[in-house]
Amino acid sequence: MPTSMSAAAGCVTSRNVDVNNCDLEQVQLVGAIQPHGALLVVEEPALRIVRASANTDGFLGTPTATVLGGSLDRVLGDDAVAALRVRLAGTNLTGCSAHLLTLAALPHRDGRFHLFGNRSDGLLILEFERSDAAHAPVESDLFGALRNTLQELQRSASLRTFLEVAVDRVREFTGFERVLVYRFDPDGSGEVVAEAKEPGLDPYLGLHYPASDIPAPARRLFALSPLRHLPDVHYIPVPLLPPPPASVGDTLDLSYAFLRSVSEMYSGYLRNMEVQATLVAPLLKAGKLWGLISCMQHSAPKYLPYEQRSPIEFLVPMVSLLMGDREDLDHYAYRVVLDQTLGQLIGAMSRIETLHGALTAGDPNLLSGIDADGAALLVDGQLTLLGDTPTRDQVRLLADWLAQQDIPVFSTYRLTNDFPAAESFCAVAGGLLSIRLSRTTADQVIWFRSEVLREEHWAGDPRKPVEISMDERQVRLLPRTSFALWKETVRCQSRPWLDCERDYAVRLRQAIFDVIVERARRLALINAELERSNRELDSFAFAASHDLKEPLRGIHNFAEYLQQEDGARLSEKGQKRLETILRLAGRMDDLLESLLQYSRVFRNALDLDSYPLSALVEQAVDFIRQVIPDEAVEFLVSPDLPVVRCDRMRVEMIFHNLILNAVKYNRQPVKRVEIGCDTAVDPPVFFVKDNGIGIAPDQCELIFQLFRRLHGRDEYGGGTGAGLTIAKKAVKRHGGRIWVESAEGRGSTFHFTLAAGPTVADAS
Ligand code: ADP
Repeated sequence: MPTSMSAAAGCVTSRNVDVNNCDLEQVQLVGAIQPHGALLVVEEPALRIVRASANTDGFLGTPTATVLGGSLDRVLGDDAVAALRVRLAGTNLTGCSAHLLTLAALPHRDGRFHLFGNRSDGLLILEFERSDAAHAPVESDLFGALRNTLQELQRSASLRTFLEVAVDRVREFTGFERVLVYRFDPDGSGEVVAEAKEPGLDPYLGLHYPASDIPAPARRLFALSPLRHLPDVHYIPVPLLPPPPASVGDTLDLSYAFLRSVSEMYSGYLRNMEVQATLVAPLLKAGKLWGLISCMQHSAPKYLPYEQRSPIEFLVPMVSLLMGDREDLDHYAYRVVLDQTLGQLIGAMSRIETLHGALTAGDPNLLSGIDADGAALLVDGQLTLLGDTPTRDQVRLLADWLAQQDIPVFSTYRLTNDFPAAESFCAVAGGLLSIRLSRTTADQVIWFRSEVLREEHWAGDPRKPVEISMDERQVRLLPRTSFALWKETVRCQSRPWLDCERDYAVRLRQAIFDVIVERARRLALINAELERSNRELDSFAFAASHDLKEPLRGIHNFAEYLQQEDGARLSEKGQKRLETILRLAGRMDDLLESLLQYSRVFRNALDLDSYPLSALVEQAVDFIRQVIPDEAVEFLVSPDLPVVRCDRMRVEMIFHNLILNAVKYNRQPVKRVEIGCDTAVDPPVFFVKDNGIGIAPDQCELIFQLFRRLHGRDEYGGGTGAGLTIAKKAVKRHGGRIWVESAEGRGSTFHFTLAAGPTVADAS
């Protein structure tokens, strides 16, 4: 990079040289200046000269030996010193340099001079440059030109056109052959983003430069000075006298000295680029170095006197200020789009039941508005992908890793730096932005950015900023000698995420939380209401079945009396009708009894105790044997049935219903019913298996509904269709689950558990 400064000889050795120790170089402690001015170091308040550049004789008309140790009035004259004292009293010279005086002549040298000053380490540093009034722009023209430039900058529609105007106008004001804007990326490397140049020159626009081209100390110094000028890269440095003690090295801080000599590395670097002169100004945003405006002369040295530099000194800070606004404005338009998308997504979340439905199914969705190539939504284990993303397995892996980071909002433009396993899919996930939706699960939203700029044009090898020369028995660092373009593959990087994008992610996260909390609140209300109405229904069922039984018994008894006492007197039709009344009353009694049993499952708390289930099952089997003494049934009861803590009466009900059904819905000559338990899982799973008629798959859920029968009223010994419902309720009261595996004609196996647990969760 033409504005580069790099390590000077001495700061590193051939053994330890690398990109990073160039960052350690103290480029401000050079102890020398460029020859287009003279420098005096003065002690206040006496204004005694303690150091001077070796060129005072030629430049100021007083030999350095005479100047050193003497008073400043010998060089400036009494009047100028008096005027200087007034200026010094009213000017802040700490942490900046200021123009102090324009001198019409010096006691020992004709011609006008500009005098600049800054304070460093308690010393006053005075810098002299010749004034070039002949080249000074006419003031009225200058103001007009500056005003037009500012208006033009303000009118520019985008940051790109803004920077183009800036480089064009700086080139017009300065007359340099090339003016460019160099923008720093987050990692310190940079890119030429605007350029104005003489037609015949090779373009630098779009070139990238490694971070080592402008090491950290050089970046710091560029940020400190409004302008850095190197009129001639071939200049011979002028040392400050007396020289510092060799053992210590120079300690004078020339950070704010305009004439400060540049490092050998810098001038060598520029010579290799065939640059003869430069002028560099920092572009700051919010006080931080955003980039540089760099002017270059290739054909010959070029000195820009103070008169011609001052418009640039005024213009560049203006450009900095307006540029910040312009960049923010670019982002503002994007922010508005993101705001609109967020509003629409919130609307969708309030209308649509599931987050997946609201955020991924419609338009807009998670990928709308935001500058991302793909998105993923992981909620309750369900994963939905949009656009270009890694595979489902890779996204799940990534989500697990993100969950472990425990960061609510995470963003990176180099995913492999944080998560090396992303190397295999960084083409679609060079960078990502994610929001965590749960503290306990991996639920999240992830936006992906694919790898960007597969091939960058680097203006030099980013891994080899310097070469080492062993000349003169001294290790010296040389700038690289070749600047031919070469291509570096920048892998696994995406465009960096902007603040407004991270902000959008934060707000979407909050909106999702609000929706989740609101839904949970609504669900809790609905559940409470459901429980209340269930309780009411149970009380009603109990009351109805209980209270209806009595009048029904009356109907049945009176119908029987009628049959016994007056039956013979009735016509045949009348007798049939009476029989129907009796049959229907009997059926209604069965139904009411079932309803009563069903409601009893709910009434009263569970009476829990430990029971050996083998005894319970034996009892149920004995009972059933008595009910169906003529049937050929083979009961196989497992000897390993465990002892279980349960409500005895309700568990008997379960086994009774299941075993009875296993016999009832069976046409085999020898009916086989197997009763057992899988104790290898937790909680144990009980089963009742038969070799009966089986159940079609689509009926396997229906049979658990109240009064649901799959057969004619009197087929298979009849029934009310309540047995399985009662069994299911009894299982549920124990916190368990019941299900059936069956196929038509191939028997059925009913499974159930008597407690909630991992097996139940897995199975469901
Ligand atoms: P019910 O036996 O009184 O009809 P259930 O609730 O016990 O009522 O059973 C509901 C229906 O499920 C039965 O009518 C029958 O069609 C079917 N069913 C239950 N158990 C079995 C089984 N082991 N094999 C085949 N079908 C069955």
